[in-house]
Amino acid sequence: MQKDKKMYKDKQVNKKLGWLLLRLIRMEKNSEKELLEKLRKIYVGGWIPNKNLVKEHLSYQMKENNIEKNANEYLLTKKGYDVLSERKERMRKLRDKRTSKEACAAYSMWGNVGLSLLEFIVGFFSGSIGLIADAIHTAVDIIASAITWIGIRLDKEAQAALTGGIVLCGIGIFIAFESMTKFSQPANIQIQVIALLTIVVNIIINGFFSYYKFYVGGRTRSISLVADAYHTKTDIWSSIAVLIGLLGASLGFPVLDSVAGAVVSVFIMIGGYELISESKEVLQGKDPKLEKFSKFLQAHLQVLPDRGAFIVLWILNIQTMSRDECQQKVKEVLGERFPIGLKDTDYQNIFIRLKKENLIHLSKGKLIITQEGRETLKRLAEKPVASRFGIRKNFIDLKRIHTFSEGL
Ligand SMILES: [Zn+2]
Repeated sequence: MQKDKKMYKDKQVNKKLGWLLLRLIRMEKNSEKELLEKLRKIYVGGWIPNKNLVKEHLSYQMKENNIEKNANEYLLTKKGYDVLSERKERMRKLRDKRTSKEACAAYSMWGNVGLSLLEFIVGFFSGSIGLIADAIHTAVDIIASAITWIGIRLDKEAQAALTGGIVLCGIGIFIAFESMTKFSQPANIQIQVIALLTIVVNIIINGFFSYYKFYVGGRTRSISLVADAYHTKTDIWSSIAVLIGLLGASLGFPVLDSVAGAVVSVFIMIGGYELISESKEVLQGKDPKLEKFSKFLQAHLQVLPDRGAFIVLWILNIQTMSRDECQQKVKEVLGERFPIGLKDTDYQNIFIRLKKENLIHLSKGKLIITQEGRETLKRLAEKPVASRFGIRKNFIDLKRIHTFSEGL
């Protein structure tokens, strides 16, 4: 158990503090004391509000004419409303652009074009057979990503995913065949730094696109984009197999090349088969099970009940409100960033669970957080999540709180 709670510094909070105060004042008029209390709740005890810093921000916003003071309370001015809605509109536009599935598929296609060109050029000048073989594979990937893009444009996603699965199986067979021929006659591979570097670049670019396509594919529930993301993930395995082959050759075990290739080809064929069977089900009208192809999406679906509970409790701890208002805010907060597109039933389930566990209750048309709810909120805020690369992360951190605050 962790004893000393990690506290956020004034400097870390400062950047967002002005926006946060404007949002709190938009929700309802507040005195300075109330604002300080709400800020403490927003950071769930991770930041003890600095009175002077808050004062500074308030007087700046007064000077900017975003807020005004009436008796002891701060109110948002017309200009303040405009400033907040402009910011929201700007951020929404940016997000829509980044998470458009058509744009994502197009970027990925051009990424493959660039990668394939790079591999052909470096392969040609260095004479690396492995690199040229990978360039041919990447050229096939251009076709696969073009099919994805066309499938999205024509609204024939399941068909595109099915074709993608067949292409992936084909690639698996190609790699299997290639490794078998290398088994019988191991090639004399020469290690070239430039070839190695190119493969590393390939892994990095594919890593980025795989994540990006899973993210956009999950949010838009796009089977073809997720299928393509999965294919890109297998491209990383193929590149690692090529690296292992080169490493083996340099250590005097040229057979490693064929073994790595054979192992990867089996996984690719299984993956291609999975894609084919999943897209067939989608073609029959079933909901796509996107998380099957991504640990990233799977992990997010697993934390959904807790994350949803945290957000509802967090909002209600700041202010009581009607159920509709609360659900609207939860959608803003959770829906904007969650990598899987959530349905109305997902949001409803969160409320049902919280009521059943007696963490919230309804009184005179308003939802109110219970004492148990407050304790659960604190517990969730400090809940550790699986550490990655030895770095321990909390379920909720400063970055998340700031992201959530954008929805208030
Ligand atoms: Zn590929």
